[in-house]
Amino acid sequence: MRVVVVGGGFAGLFTASELIAAGIEDVLVLDQNPVPGGVAQTVQRDGFSLEPAVGSFNLPHPHLSQILDRAGVAVDTAPAASKRYVYRSGRLVEIPGSPKAILAPLVSTPAKLRALAEPFVRQGGASDETLASFCRRRFGADAGHLLAWLMASGVYAGDPDKLSASAAFPSLTLLEQEAGSVVRGGLRARRRRPDGVPGSRVHTPVGGMVAMADAIVTSLEDRYRPAFTASVVRPHPSGWVVEGVGELFADAVVLATHPESAAGLVDSELATHLGRAVSAPVVTVGLGGSGESPLPSGFGALVGPDNSMASRGLLFESSYAPGRAPTGSWLLKVIAGGALLPEVATWDDNRVVAEITAEAVRVLGSQLTPEFTEVVRHRPGIPQYVTGHEGWLAELDGLLTGRPGLYLTGWGYRGVGLAQQASDAVRTAAKIAAKSADQLD
Ligand SMILES: Cc1cc2nc3c(=O)[nH]c(=O)nc-3n(C[C@H](O)[C@H](O)[C@H](O)COP(=O)(O)OP(=O)(O)OC[C@H]3O[C@@H](n4cnc5c(N)ncnc54)[C@H](O)[C@@H]3O)c2cc1C
Repeated sequence: MRVVVVGGGFAGLFTASELIAAGIEDVLVLDQNPVPGGVAQTVQRDGFSLEPAVGSFNLPHPHLSQILDRAGVAVDTAPAASKRYVYRSGRLVEIPGSPKAILAPLVSTPAKLRALAEPFVRQGGASDETLASFCRRRFGADAGHLLAWLMASGVYAGDPDKLSASAAFPSLTLLEQEAGSVVRGGLRARRRRPDGVPGSRVHTPVGGMVAMADAIVTSLEDRYRPAFTASVVRPHPSGWVVEGVGELFADAVVLATHPESAAGLVDSELATHLGRAVSAPVVTVGLGGSGESPLPSGFGALVGPDNSMASRGLLFESSYAPGRAPTGSWLLKVIAGGALLPEVATWDDNRVVAEITAEAVRVLGSQLTPEFTEVVRHRPGIPQYVTGHEGWLAELDGLLTGRPGLYLTGWGYRGVGLAQQASDAVRTAAKIAAKSADQLD
């Protein structure tokens, strides 16, 4: 069976790796760019190394670990990343690890007491509840509002009043469904972890995301073709055709692109559906300098809802991943814009650097004179799993049933992080391998 994967971001690379592991050797990954990695294109300049999209991930993970191990991807641990902060009421507050996070001085004592009563709150929100409504219902108005905001910021740069709790954070809503309470479910899951099995910890790829993409491409041998733009993907009596510079025939095609790009390749009915996917433009800003570091030790800080800032989160890159700045220098990565302030992506570079530097000065409480600046705009940006997303996915599955041999994967569908893409790669490869086995019978 021949499989063409359109898109050499991590979703496409992971899927190809899993297909080969499942015994499907005739795989070809195409990408319009000259280099693999999709949105995760490490910017390396003057000794600084800025990751404009994903820059770290938690390991071990059942699917991501196996893919990285298979490709021989070297990773470092990042012990300092366990320290995290929230910027609230004009100061940086360190957040102890869960469940002690509730002790952090972020909400009033009555709000804390209400949050602590979560295990006694009866189940039952509306179906397809927003993240904000879910968190308020479980943890009370104040703590719930803050929690929803921080979760929406940290993963989606999103709007907690629009994100669907069950689509955006399925493991959270599952805790309520299975244990009747988020806290009780979380504690049970901790207790279930066998002794000696380490919890997952933040890791970074040696050489950056670009080196990780290269390692996976190397493991694919000659199955990766850069600089190939697919223009149409259409059915054919015995499979699928990918049109670009010439035509490629395949038994199955995996579209591992942003839904917006996938919409430009397929028939109008499917394209209309894919066109309904929601995304939010974000801007990643790298600020680096020499001399004493203004960054606290730790992973970074989320900006709380009481600040009208363009920045949603600040990552202390050179603190948890020292190789990302030259010796004696520091590097800060700020993620700005998103669902609540998409217009940041339209600001020119000077305005972005000036406003984000001023906000970083407020958050860090130190003067900054960046010598390294870099602005990367992500458009259409981070997929937003707003209410209705699960229905949209179910309808999409229905449309794909009528198009056997066509598959969709990537951050637009079942998880915006690398771990979920690894899991989706395993799922997609298993489906294709089952189809291949049926054909052989
Ligand atoms: C600011 C930011 C921070 C993030 N932080 C984290 C994090 O901490 N942890 C985490 O796990 N994730 C994080 N992510 C998410 C992570 O970066 C993405 O999930 C992942 O990189 C997306 O991979 P993908 O392959 O699905 O999509 P993409 O990277 O978008 O890849 C799609 C590929 O398809 C190609 N393509 C599109 N159209 C065509 C065509 N017609 N022909 C050929 N090729 C085509 C594109 O060139 C691209 O290479 C972050 C993202 C952002 C933006």
